[in-house]
Amino acid sequence: MDTIKVKAIVLSSIDYKEKDKLVTLFTIENGVMQAIMKSVKSDKAKMRFAKEPFCFGEYLIAMPSKIITNVEVEDNFYVLTKDIDKFYLACAILETVKTVVVAGEKNVELFIETLKAIGAIAYGNVNDKYVLTKFLLSVFKGMGYTLSLNKCSTCGQPFSGKRYLNLDYGEVVCTGCKSGKCIEISPKCHSCFKILSETSYDKLNTIKLANKSEDEALNVLNINFENRFNKKLNLL
Ligand SMILES: [Zn+2]
Repeated sequence: MDTIKVKAIVLSSIDYKEKDKLVTLFTIENGVMQAIMKSVKSDKAKMRFAKEPFCFGEYLIAMPSKIITNVEVEDNFYVLTKDIDKFYLACAILETVKTVVVAGEKNVELFIETLKAIGAIAYGNVNDKYVLTKFLLSVFKGMGYTLSLNKCSTCGQPFSGKRYLNLDYGEVVCTGCKSGKCIEISPKCHSCFKILSETSYDKLNTIKLANKSEDEALNVLNINFENRFNKKLNLL
């Protein structure tokens, strides 16, 4: 029997048979995959923490049975369970990953981005909505739907005045190029996208965006997400 070793973060886990759990892992090596943890539902089980969402570590998986035989936990981000707002926003990150990653398809960039974003929500002294907004912007970019920040994606002219998100294509356009299904985005929200995409996770605590612009930003990105991936994120 072969064993594979993967670095992974748990996206979700569900009951499986009487005492087991079926966990969905996002791994560096193989993208999203499912594996089984035997007898982990008891409080005394050695690997009980490793079945919880957010748990990050090195998982040993027997193949082809997909039974997890050992886990070296690096961080379970336990602090997230102590704050309901943080927890929900961090869950939206896991939900995003589950939606956009194709099973078995490797995505190292998204893996690193996911860990950074969850770490920033758990430990960074930041506005957590900034973190989720930045994360979603990078997801769109990674999937080939980069939101244009300076110039209209159709005519290439710099933005002035009104601008719109074209929901058919997931691109930002000017008034002249507006067509089909579009929603207006405020310049304040647009600049929120620009600042967040240009600021690293560890520097997010140094910025302060216009009041409530992060709420509009998240709302716009959620509408875009729904139009790109047919799923709405639960953002409270
Ligand atoms: Zn234009």
